[in-house]
Amino acid sequence: MRHVVIFGAPGSGKGTQSAKIVEQLGFLAMSTGDLLRAGIASGSEIGRACEAVMAQGKFPDSSMIYQVVENFLLQTSDAKGVLYDGFPRTVDQAKFLIEFLEKQDAQIECVLNVQVDHDALVKRITGRFTCVKCGEIYNRYYKPCKSDGVCDICQSEEFKVRSDDTEETIKTRLQMYQNETAPVLDFLRDRNVKVVSIDGMQQMDVVFDQIENALSNE
Ligand code: AMP
Repeated sequence: MRHVVIFGAPGSGKGTQSAKIVEQLGFLAMSTGDLLRAGIASGSEIGRACEAVMAQGKFPDSSMIYQVVENFLLQTSDAKGVLYDGFPRTVDQAKFLIEFLEKQDAQIECVLNVQVDHDALVKRITGRFTCVKCGEIYNRYYKPCKSDGVCDICQSEEFKVRSDDTEETIKTRLQMYQNETAPVLDFLRDRNVKVVSIDGMQQMDVVFDQIENALSNE
């Protein structure tokens, strides 16, 4: 099974690209953010424990993240590949993943490092909203609905904004990324994991072409 990490700051477009990688390349996405949000929505113990910390843009305790990751990975032995989105987010989490995979005789094949300018990150996060019905992701600056307030895909008029996509929280999330997450790249490079730079400032399809190319060169 292939193990690929999609890496980048909040707002770099990892979620959008993950959806394309799943749909077109047959990977299974493991987004710890999505798994935690599902836990919050269902009222699970982990969801309840993480909710307040996530709303502030900080990281819940890694022990909870490991439980979510292990549960997910133990159920996916027949997938063609797993795409890690939002994990590992700290050097300790990267160590955990390497060791977890080693026990299964597996390793991280590569890291797709999606790079986006700081100003664009802020606009991408503050402009983001999602259709409640079909999950289509929009952005009021870059990708508004064709008809104002109506989903292009399913015509629903109901949208939601992530509770951590606020001006104050973004500052914390970007700081957490700089301090805790960015060092993961050097850590993985030191462990001989290949890191591929992806220019995330390009159009969505062009970004995907770079990713497809990186994954077919493996
Ligand atoms: P994301 O959907 O990846 O932007 O994650 C949203 C929020 O979930 C983050 O700001 C963190 O509070 C939390 N989170 C997601 N993944 C992790 C992780 N691997 N480690 C710690 N916190 C995480």
